[in-house]
Amino acid sequence: MDKMYRSTRNKELVLSAKEAILKGIADDGGLFVYDELDQISLPLKDMMDMTYEQMAEVVLTLLLPDFKEEEIKQCVKAAYEKQFDDEHITPLYSYQDTHILELFHGPTCAFKDIGLRMLPQLMSTALKGHDEEKIMILTATSGDTGKAALAGFCDVERIGITVFYPKEGVSSIQQLQMTTQEGKNTCVCALEGNFDDAQSSVKKVLHDASFAQELKQSKISFSSANSINIGRLIPQIVYYIYAYKELVRQGKIKLMEEVNFCVPTGNFGNVLAGYYAKLMGLPIHKLIVASNANHVLYDFLTSGVYDRNRPFHKTISPSMDILISSNLERLLYYKSGKNAAYIQMLMERLETRGSYRVEDELLKDIQNDFVGGYCDDEQCAREIKAFYEQSGYVMDPHTATGYKVMREYARQDKEHVCILLSTASPYKFAPSVYQALFKTCNMDEFACMEELERKSGAAIPQALRELKEKAVRHHDVIEKDAMREYVKNKTKEILL
Ligand SMILES: *Cc1c(COP(=O)(O)O)cnc(C)c1O
Repeated sequence: MDKMYRSTRNKELVLSAKEAILKGIADDGGLFVYDELDQISLPLKDMMDMTYEQMAEVVLTLLLPDFKEEEIKQCVKAAYEKQFDDEHITPLYSYQDTHILELFHGPTCAFKDIGLRMLPQLMSTALKGHDEEKIMILTATSGDTGKAALAGFCDVERIGITVFYPKEGVSSIQQLQMTTQEGKNTCVCALEGNFDDAQSSVKKVLHDASFAQELKQSKISFSSANSINIGRLIPQIVYYIYAYKELVRQGKIKLMEEVNFCVPTGNFGNVLAGYYAKLMGLPIHKLIVASNANHVLYDFLTSGVYDRNRPFHKTISPSMDILISSNLERLLYYKSGKNAAYIQMLMERLETRGSYRVEDELLKDIQNDFVGGYCDDEQCAREIKAFYEQSGYVMDPHTATGYKVMREYARQDKEHVCILLSTASPYKFAPSVYQALFKTCNMDEFACMEELERKSGAAIPQALRELKEKAVRHHDVIEKDAMREYVKNKTKEILL
C-alpha cells in the first residue's frame, strides 16, 4: 500500500514516498511518479476555509501515505513557520482583473523556497530509522534553486549539500546569495559552461554506479534537490489551491468554476505541480506555459517536436534559460497512459539525438490542458514598464514574461479568470528591472536595488538588504570534467 511511486521508465520498480524522496531520481534515470494521482480527489469544499499550512497538510497526507500525521504536521511547521515575510506564505495581489500570486516571500525571495523549505524536512524525517546513513545532495542551479537548497539544508543533520552553478549564468545577487552561504555542511562551486552543462554533469555523477558503490561503503548515498524530487514538487501543488481559495473567498469566482494559471517556466516543475492539482480535482481550464527566448517548450506544445538542438540564449530571466525541461517527462508519462516503455524510448532519443517527436494524439491531449507562449527580453522590459505605469506594481522579468504571455492568451479566452504566478522578487534582478523602468543602470547591483526602492516605493526584502554585509565563503571554480573528483573530496570533507 505504501509502495506507490514508480519510475517513469520502468513499471517494475516501486518505492514508498520516503524511499522516493531519499533517492530523488530512479536508478534507470526515470522520475518518480504516482500512478493513481488522478484517482485522488482534493476535499476542495473543506479546503476553502483552511490556512496555507492546513492545505499543505492535506496535500502531503494524500501523496505521502507512509509519513505519519504527526510527522507531516512537524514538517509543515518547520518548513513554513516564521520563514516567510508574509503570514499567508503566498499572498495574492490583485490589480483590477490581473491576479498575481506572489511566490517569493520566503528566505531567498524566489518561488523555489516553497519546495526547498519542505524537501529537507521530508528527507530528514525519512532518514529516521536508518541510523548510520548519510546523504550528499548534489544540485545544479540556474540561480534560484542553489540558494534555496543551501538555505533549506543548512546544518541539517547527516545531510551535506554541494551546489554547482554556471559561472556566467547567474546574476551577481544570485551568486552572492550562494557564495555567502553559511553552515558546516554546505559547498558551492562555479562550473565553466551553461546551466544545461551543469545539470547534465550532475546527472552523470548521480548515475555513476561505481562511484555510488564506493560511497556506499561509508553508508553515504547521493540525492538531488532539483525539481525532479517529489519532496519538492508536491509542496508546490498547495499554492495553486491557495490562489483558487483566495479568489473564491473574495467572490471573484464560484466554487468549482474553472480558472487558468499562467506560469513562467524553465524546468517544467512549477507548472507540472499545477497539472497535478488539476488531476486531483482543482478546476483548472488551461495551464499557460510562458517561456523566454529559449522557447523549446512553446515549440513542443505547438508542434509535438521537442528539440534541444538550438542556440542557447542568455536572457534577463536567467532562471528560465533552460533547454532540457526535465519534469516534462512526468507529463508525458501521464499523457501516454503511463507507458514507461514509450517514455524510455523518447528519453533515449533526447539523450542521443537531442530531440524527439510525440504522436499526434498525445500532442492533442497535452494541448487540452496546456498552451504555450514566449516573450523576448525587449518585450519583457516593455511589460514591466507598462504594468508599473498602470498600477505602480513592480514585477520581476520572469513574472513579466508570464504577464505578456497571459495577456496574449486572454485575447482568445475572455471567459476564465487567470492567475499569474510571480516567481521572484524584482529585487533579485534589480538591474534589469531598473533598466526596464528608468534607464540604463550604471551602478553596482546594491546601489541599483536602493535606487529602485527609492523611485518605485516598493521595499527591498530584508534577506537581500543584508547580503551586502556578508562575507564570501565559497570561491571554487572548476571545469565540468573535474566534477567527479571534486564531489568525492567534498563528500569526504563534509560527511566523514
Ligand atoms: C526556477 C524558476 C523558474 C522556473 O521554474 P521551473 O519549475 O523550473 O519551471 C521561474 N522563475 C524563477 C524566478 C525561478 O527561480
